[in-house]
Amino acid sequence: GLVKTFPRDRGKVFKKRVGSVHAVDGVDLRIGRGETLALVGESGCGKSTTLFEILGRTAPRTGSIELLGRPVDGTWDKAGDVQLVFQDPHASLDPRLPVGDIVAEPMRARRASAKAIAARVPEVLRLVGLEPGHAGRFPHEFSGGQRQRIAIARALSVEPALLVLDEPVSALDVSVQAGVLNLLRDLKERLGLAYLFVTHDLAVVATIADRVSVMYLGRIVETGDVDAVFGAPGHPYTRALLSAVPIPDPAVERGRERILLTGEPPGAGTRPTGCRFRSRCPRYAELGRPDVCAAQDPALTGDARRQTACHFATPATT
Ligand code: SF4
Ligand code: MG
Repeated sequence: GLVKTFPRDRGKVFKKRVGSVHAVDGVDLRIGRGETLALVGESGCGKSTTLFEILGRTAPRTGSIELLGRPVDGTWDKAGDVQLVFQDPHASLDPRLPVGDIVAEPMRARRASAKAIAARVPEVLRLVGLEPGHAGRFPHEFSGGQRQRIAIARALSVEPALLVLDEPVSALDVSVQAGVLNLLRDLKERLGLAYLFVTHDLAVVATIADRVSVMYLGRIVETGDVDAVFGAPGHPYTRALLSAVPIPDPAVERGRERILLTGEPPGAGTRPTGCRFRSRCPRYAELGRPDVCAAQDPALTGDARRQTACHFATPATT
């Protein structure tokens, strides 16, 4: 299984996360070659569980996960076809190892030869904009942004087809974020990579993703092309998330709707009947609490560009 190939610290991060998330059901995820799908939602919405499923550590209960035209199974990890980059490059890099050894970890786990490793390490360091001559240095000698580049180099060492990026820039200074996002965009172009980009930051989604899936309590409530979803969000939850994104232009900022969500997502035991967003949905309140929201869990419907799981979805613009 995957866990064997991870250094100790990362295994710990995983265990901590899996205990605190909601079960995921009915999640269908498809990512094509060269595509970036952003998975968005508040913490505890099921994103981490979805990651585990993608990595083959837990089987999807319902729904399906298909990447680059293949269903996800154990062969992905064996081949190194999917690699992870975590949020915090301080926690995910072993401080006792020189960078060259860190970068080679996934290759070692797959029994690559010393010769192959010696050839590949300088290559991937160059790919992420670091000096190959710095392979002997230790993580603490690098800045946060550089450390995240090291983590990306490690992921690239085994030539993956897909990178799963779990909040890869949210621990970095805003000034450093842009550099790492540019690097990711550039690598995607040059290497034909696909990304699953997990984030709560919609401004980041707008700059990096082709498609977006918004999760709430273990369910995808809206999905589609970033332009279609952000241009005309159909789900009240997506609308609320988008209304909270600051826009630098004060003129635009003044005229915007601001939707405040009250309360916390309910725990697994107290999930409302019907639509699971009902207990926090501003539209449900506005519409006078229609019965259908309590009676029926809305399915994702729409066209190829945008699909929304709401009985009263705001129409898409055409
Ligand atoms: Fe809100 Fe009803 Fe739509 Fe659910 S189905 S998001 S409760 S309006
Ligand atoms: Mg999480």
